Amino acid sequence: MNPEFRQALYETHLLIEEHAKDREIEDNPLPESIARKEAPRIPDVPEHEVVRHYLRLSQMNYGVDTGFYPLGSCTMKYNPKYSEALCRERDALDLHPYQPEDTVQGTLRIMYELQEMLAEIGGMDSVSLQPAAGAQGEFTGLAIVHGYYKNNNEERDEVVLPDTSHGTNPASAAMLGYKTIEIPSKEGCVDLKALREAVGENTAAFMLTNPNTLGLFEEDVLEIADIVHGSGALLYYDGANLNAIMGKTDPGKMNFDIMHFNLHKTFSTPHGGGGPGSGPVGVVEDLKSYLPVPLVKKEGDKFILDYSLENSIGRVKGFYGNWMVLLRAYAYILERGREGLTQVSERAVLNSNYLRKKLEGTLELPYKPLRKHEFVLSGQKLKKEGLRTMDLAKRLLDYGYHAPTIYFPLIVDEALMVEPTETERKETLDEFAAIIEKIMNENPETVKNAPHNTAVGRVDETRAAKKPIASYKMREGDEK
Ligand SMILES: *Cc1c(COP(=O)(O)O)cnc(C)c1O
Repeated sequence: MNPEFRQALYETHLLIEEHAKDREIEDNPLPESIARKEAPRIPDVPEHEVVRHYLRLSQMNYGVDTGFYPLGSCTMKYNPKYSEALCRERDALDLHPYQPEDTVQGTLRIMYELQEMLAEIGGMDSVSLQPAAGAQGEFTGLAIVHGYYKNNNEERDEVVLPDTSHGTNPASAAMLGYKTIEIPSKEGCVDLKALREAVGENTAAFMLTNPNTLGLFEEDVLEIADIVHGSGALLYYDGANLNAIMGKTDPGKMNFDIMHFNLHKTFSTPHGGGGPGSGPVGVVEDLKSYLPVPLVKKEGDKFILDYSLENSIGRVKGFYGNWMVLLRAYAYILERGREGLTQVSERAVLNSNYLRKKLEGTLELPYKPLRKHEFVLSGQKLKKEGLRTMDLAKRLLDYGYHAPTIYFPLIVDEALMVEPTETERKETLDEFAAIIEKIMNENPETVKNAPHNTAVGRVDETRAAKKPIASYKMREGDEK
């Protein structure tokens, strides 16, 4: 382990110990009225059966610890185990949301420092750790936009987005009551002419991720910012693709006003089963007073929860219950350091372009320029054999890989979006490319009926989404 990180870890540990000492929790038994009267009914099963049950379930699952997970846009990088160890410390676990601030000084210090580090990485002035996911970060950011214009007595009711945008972007805007205006792309990037025509006195914000979801860097970003600001609107940065640019540039330098970070993507915390995640929001100076409360603030040598932001949009989440995610991201940033994070982005981009080069002969690559951390292929060639990208994705499961993202972004026919991340070795990328080539030469019937080796075969995805069966057994009367 690198010595600097060992030291940082040790200091974190000291902090946690320090506040634990202050925290003499009384041995306070539950009131009689709510205490259990009899022992709980737990099935009488020998330990080895329990172990086998859970191990079997874990083997039916697939995660970054199982194998390659090139799910584009999601940045499924390996999550280091040192941060898991840190989260198992009793002093990191035994916290209560209503604990007095002076008994959680170590925790608050970590949160404060994380706010500061993220602000620096994003080129923003102030960061709130409150939102629990990227999508909630978007909602928070747009609520700030909403509050800002309300305060300025401006009625702006439209949010403009490119057609490459992630589905959560228009969804978040719609949740705040904004009309969404989609503009077409030109050669995969924002069409400046279309942007000029779309923005105006009704525009509240333009939402963009850079590099965009095709993995293309929007080189006109400064002009985009001028056009958007020229119309009096604000510029929102979707930070899901931050893994491509850390240490090279930042949303602040690109003149964005608001952004979110996806800690479970860029900062190597687990994605969980749909949560808990974390989507901190950063803003420029002018929007600082609109952030959700409480913000962690430093006063002298004490850390406090500050509720006094003048124009705050309020809370977007009850408590900091996702504190473990924050702790992991904090450890990851300290461990990588400034140079390490830059290297993360350099390697993510290198891996992506290496794999792109290997695959562009096998599948079609729309839009030619160099990619950043991910790239999008088209499975159009498969159609000749009566196959679709879906079939290729399912067949990959038989070879022990998680499938790439498919059918997104929407502007690529039969899209296959690959994001290898920096944590994968060259050998893995070579193997993956070889398997795709192999599948392209397989008997189409084999591919069409895949997967053959997984615990669950091909499911009817539309039906599963529309009529989910959430219980483990079918009930009587349920349709088969
Ligand atoms: C993942 C992602 C989001 C949403 O983030 P969540 O943390 O999953 O809510 C938004 N935009 C892009 C481009 C993404 O990849």
